[in-house]
Amino acid sequence: MSEVIIHDERFRALVIGHARLERLWTGGRWMEGPAYFPAGRYLVWSDIPNNRMMRFDETDGSVSVFREPSGNSNGNTTDRQGRLVTCEHLTRRVTRTEFDGSVRVLADRFEGKRFNSPNDVVVAADGTIWFSDPTYGIDSDYEGIAAESEIGASQVYRLDPVSGHIEAVVRDRIKPNGLAFSPDERLLYVADTGASHEPGLPATIHAYPVLAPGQLGAPRHFATCPEGFFDGFRCDAAGHVWTSAGTSVLCYHPDGTMIGEIRIGEIVANLCFGGPRFNRLYICAQTSLYSLFVKARGAVTPAAG
Ligand code: MG
Repeated sequence: MSEVIIHDERFRALVIGHARLERLWTGGRWMEGPAYFPAGRYLVWSDIPNNRMMRFDETDGSVSVFREPSGNSNGNTTDRQGRLVTCEHLTRRVTRTEFDGSVRVLADRFEGKRFNSPNDVVVAADGTIWFSDPTYGIDSDYEGIAAESEIGASQVYRLDPVSGHIEAVVRDRIKPNGLAFSPDERLLYVADTGASHEPGLPATIHAYPVLAPGQLGAPRHFATCPEGFFDGFRCDAAGHVWTSAGTSVLCYHPDGTMIGEIRIGEIVANLCFGGPRFNRLYICAQTSLYSLFVKARGAVTPAAG
């Protein structure tokens, strides 16, 4: 089990001794945004520079193109009805793929200004859609089209998909990136990848208390990445934070202790829980898709509610 490292004995209960890390597919350029669809037993993710979304069929292991072009899509998730919600760099918007297959734009502006490049997205129990909007899709022509920021800031937004109302809920990060709620939704974890632009800037996760719907309190520093950056992450049902971190996945206890590590060997961008029992960790790492069965379950059953 060489790729799994126990840093704290509490991690031992979360991993399976004889489970192996599997490389399910390779051939992407920079892959992010895995989202699992339990009803169809497939995983969708983004291959951002290649302007396509891919799909892994869990029943036979096959991989195919799900959508191309994809608007240089990045983060994906499922909403409470099991629909695909997607952040797009090129088109600088958040979309939802409807039951009939059509792609509906949920948001593309804040106060009349175009978003930078929506990056990562989660859906709360009340159906609101929370997404980060750093500048990676407009910093160059690699993951979108280079442009100046119209908003002039990188923020996290909360979108009510029924009314269309959008509010900025996190304004104090340099490059807010990965997002996840704790299982009880009392905390919103936010990664800051500011260090990608300037050494010395943050490579952190902060925990924001959710005081009321859409109202966050003062953040608490949760973790600083020991190597590289935290990008995307998810919580399991017990509240552990499983996060990308350089070329590894790190697992943090809710008390902020890093308890374990899964060495991947490529730069890890994002992960999610999947499988019929939500105990299969799907990992998007640079060019490849990996998975590992663990003794933890994802915090949210995406299609529930
Ligand atoms: Mg990201």
